[in-house]
Amino acid sequence: MIQNTSEYKKTGKVLIFSAPSGSGKTTIVRHLLKQNYSFGFSISATSRSPRSTEKNGKDYYFLSNEEFKKKIENEEFLEWQEVYSGTYYGTLKSEVERIRNNGENVLLEIDVLGGINVKKIYGNEALSVFIKAPSLEELKKRLKLRSTDSDEIIRKRIDKAEYELSFSPQFDVILINDNLEDAFIESEKIVEKFLNK
Ligand code: 5GP
Repeated sequence: MIQNTSEYKKTGKVLIFSAPSGSGKTTIVRHLLKQNYSFGFSISATSRSPRSTEKNGKDYYFLSNEEFKKKIENEEFLEWQEVYSGTYYGTLKSEVERIRNNGENVLLEIDVLGGINVKKIYGNEALSVFIKAPSLEELKKRLKLRSTDSDEIIRKRIDKAEYELSFSPQFDVILINDNLEDAFIESEKIVEKFLNK
């Protein structure tokens, strides 16, 4: 753990976290946001409906499909993907600029293809991290354990996870999430090395 974090301020670097569903991405990102790394979390836009606890402008910018498509036409997105059939997710250019203009580093939690695209845009200013469960078997187990969804939905997530895993070599760093405490420590090391570069 770094004691003096002032050296991290005002750098505007871009940290990207991507992972298949069930890899522990959100838990690790939440952990990092609690540390003093001066990260602003990039709030994505999505065309899906809010879940019961989610708030517009905090968890996502919730848009209708029409509003989302209008923003695509107007080139307002840094990147966007149809993550699930008929459901769009994207990073607004204005969101990343807002965070960078605040003198903060940007933390993105986006899908695997989006992560690869953002890394291409920012090059050395960005670090792309792929979070991986220790094995496909373990990932399947976690998805089944945590999910209240039907077998068919679980099967779809597993298929998608297998597809997404094939992109892991395109990331700068692969973080294996076997034990959560170890993954937290490893994630801090990765971030500190990147921000000190
Ligand atoms: P959820 O609906 O569970 O919040 O998110 C579904 C998936 O969409 C996750 O893999 C999440 O990382 C991804 N996602 C969220 N925001 C964005 C975004 O701005 N761009 C892309 N490409 N994917 C996103």
